[in-house]
Amino acid sequence: MNKFPFSNDNKRYHTFNYETRKHYGFKVFKVGLNAGFTCPNRDGKVAFGGCSFCNEIGSGDFQGNTSLNLLEQFDRGVAIQRKKWPDAKAIAYFQAFTNTYAPLNQLKQIYEPFIHHPDVVALAIATRIDCLDEDIIQYLDGLTQIKDVYLELGLQSIHDESAKHMNRGYTYAQFETVFKRLKQTNLKLIVHVMNGYPTETTEQMLETVQRIGQLKPYGIKIHMLNLLENTRLAMEHQIKPYTLLDMESYIDLVVNQLRHIPAEVAILRLTGDYSPTDLIEPQWIKQKINVLNGIDKRMAALDVYQGDLCFA
Ligand code: SF4
Repeated sequence: MNKFPFSNDNKRYHTFNYETRKHYGFKVFKVGLNAGFTCPNRDGKVAFGGCSFCNEIGSGDFQGNTSLNLLEQFDRGVAIQRKKWPDAKAIAYFQAFTNTYAPLNQLKQIYEPFIHHPDVVALAIATRIDCLDEDIIQYLDGLTQIKDVYLELGLQSIHDESAKHMNRGYTYAQFETVFKRLKQTNLKLIVHVMNGYPTETTEQMLETVQRIGQLKPYGIKIHMLNLLENTRLAMEHQIKPYTLLDMESYIDLVVNQLRHIPAEVAILRLTGDYSPTDLIEPQWIKQKINVLNGIDKRMAALDVYQGDLCFA
């Protein structure tokens, strides 16, 4: 029998599904939306060219279809998901690029139809810490009086030398300063970290997760690096191929990372979606179920749980 307290199935880590069912009392799903934002790492405000792993569609994950307006994107996403879960409600997920990179008035026009939408239980907003001015933080915190707001922060690594190689455009110290301010709000903070960045060791990847776990965010998303077409990393890889993590090494690493994350922290992702048209490597990332099953099996075989090596 599973003795992990944040699970009602065979998972030995704290899934978002477990957390949201407990919190809302029913199934929720995310609908990815593309509000047409750009990113300060692309337009020259912070840097040009974007992060080394991100291409012109904004890091390769699924995003809404920009030929539709936001409500049409949402309705289409809901219709697809409701085939599987007819009674579930949605989290409107502003996913593409940097979703607080606009003046406050513009952000209000984008978010307000969704915060009052009857099928929406929460907003999820993906952004960067350098696009969260105080007026925006206060506005988003105010929205939490109406519905939950999940704020997703792309960090990838705590290591500044990696951030430089990525062209991320801010330091880890800057991240922590903003994160501490955000902790004073009711926003549910989710930090994205990346495994498999080719200039990092697995020890560094573990350190990233340990340090973020100590900050006690609401949740963590762990992604495997996707080497995508039309990125700087892909160009470098063509000249001198990088060695990327294989599936078994990735499973070992993630199991070890989970053991160092406090059990109260929800795990929203352990692999990441991929873009079928742009993915160069690793091809094993397409076998998402095998990766997740491999993590479950490894944790069961070792009889380990999220947080059991976490003494902070
Ligand atoms: S990963 Fe995010 S911050 Fe980096 S270039 Fe892409 S959209 Fe911008």
